[in-house]
Amino acid sequence: MHDDAANHLAFERARLVLPGGVNSPVRAYGSVGGDPRFVSSASGPYIRDVTGTEYVDLVCSWGPALLGHAHPAVVEAVQEAAARGLSFGAPTLGEVELAEEIRRRVPAAEHVRLVSTGTEATMTAVRLARGATGRPLIVKFAGCYHGHVDSLLAEAGSGVANQALPGSAGVTEATASETLVLPYNDLAAVEQVFAERGSEIAAVITEAAPANMGIVPPLPGFNEGLRRITTAHGALLIFDEVLTGFRVSASGWWGYETTTLGADFTPDLFTFGKVVGGGMPVAAIGGPSVLMDLLAPLGPVYQAGTLSGNPVAVAAGRATLAAADASVYARVDEVSTIVADATSAALSAEGVAHRVQRSGNLFSVMFGDLAQEVGTRTYAQVQASDTFRYPPFFHAMLDAGVNLPPSVYEAWFVSAAHDDTAVDRILDALPGAAKAAAA
Ligand code: PLP
Repeated sequence: MHDDAANHLAFERARLVLPGGVNSPVRAYGSVGGDPRFVSSASGPYIRDVTGTEYVDLVCSWGPALLGHAHPAVVEAVQEAAARGLSFGAPTLGEVELAEEIRRRVPAAEHVRLVSTGTEATMTAVRLARGATGRPLIVKFAGCYHGHVDSLLAEAGSGVANQALPGSAGVTEATASETLVLPYNDLAAVEQVFAERGSEIAAVITEAAPANMGIVPPLPGFNEGLRRITTAHGALLIFDEVLTGFRVSASGWWGYETTTLGADFTPDLFTFGKVVGGGMPVAAIGGPSVLMDLLAPLGPVYQAGTLSGNPVAVAAGRATLAAADASVYARVDEVSTIVADATSAALSAEGVAHRVQRSGNLFSVMFGDLAQEVGTRTYAQVQASDTFRYPPFFHAMLDAGVNLPPSVYEAWFVSAAHDDTAVDRILDALPGAAKAAAA
């Protein structure tokens, strides 16, 4: 049984030395209330808190744990690599092999630069796009998260493209004004901004399938439309697959959309993170050699990192991708379908208006009539949904031993280690949580 008092002591101690007691804001439970669980260990589909309570985990480190926590092959690879040295500041063959594996899965990533976080990957992709085109402006979509890069935190409160406001204190108006924020899934808005300012736009950056405003699937033709418009205006298309890459399919959302969904397009630059490091700090930018070779040391666009391509982190990424075969993706797809369907059934049984929105094996719940009737397609619609139903749902699940993302704006993540026992525990918890959401 979870010991609230002991966990609270850990949080109190943390708050004396870490802002808000955490090192990344969403961990603080700000939008669901209560104390974040302090974790001591994790294995397979389970995490354990410092008071010894075990939870079925549907956060999976926010995506990286595709194989489940502490997968034996990954742990062994990390231990072996660590024993050979933690960091060299010199090239290694492991980096080459990881880049080769990325290119094998996503052939358009001809050349790859390894970095340590998704934020670095998108920051570098934006710099590369500006360097390649000589243009200043970047188009992003409201509700898409690309890490905490100054220019990518900008959001358009009014929806007016050229009046972007800083989304964070500390981001200058000058920086924010170089980012044009548009409503997601709205190709007409993209056409219009390119008609007005196309010659100044270096790139459109988009989440391959948005998962940071809850799941909001791209409408059929949206990503292809972005490709068409950017090509017509000589701008680049940056496909942010930090979250979707190597999770939604072996070749990420791009692979899923161009095979399973039958689309036909190739972005210029891809950004990867999360699964590509298997729980360690690895991320990547990939694209055609003619673009990627604009990076230093070959080209004029500077980018570097003391810990880039770190041998221990790269070992975790390689071992993860090596184990991520068709059976892994099949199981992740299967578990996500079972849990998504059961969640929807439990909420319907309590009369809670909702829709479980899905992009491949990623899913999250949107509450409210609009969501139920047509689904939410933009950030504004997500914000207008019945978000107040999520905190009681979340806490009921937590009390029943299931760890959901502590925000309605996040995807639920499953792993191939979620076996039938773990899945049954989730299914058992759902009816009570649906009751709590209905109240
Ligand atoms: N891009 C997307 C789509 C993400 O989901 C995230 C993180 O959640 C990032 C970029 C930033 O990655 P990181 O947290 O590793 O900096």
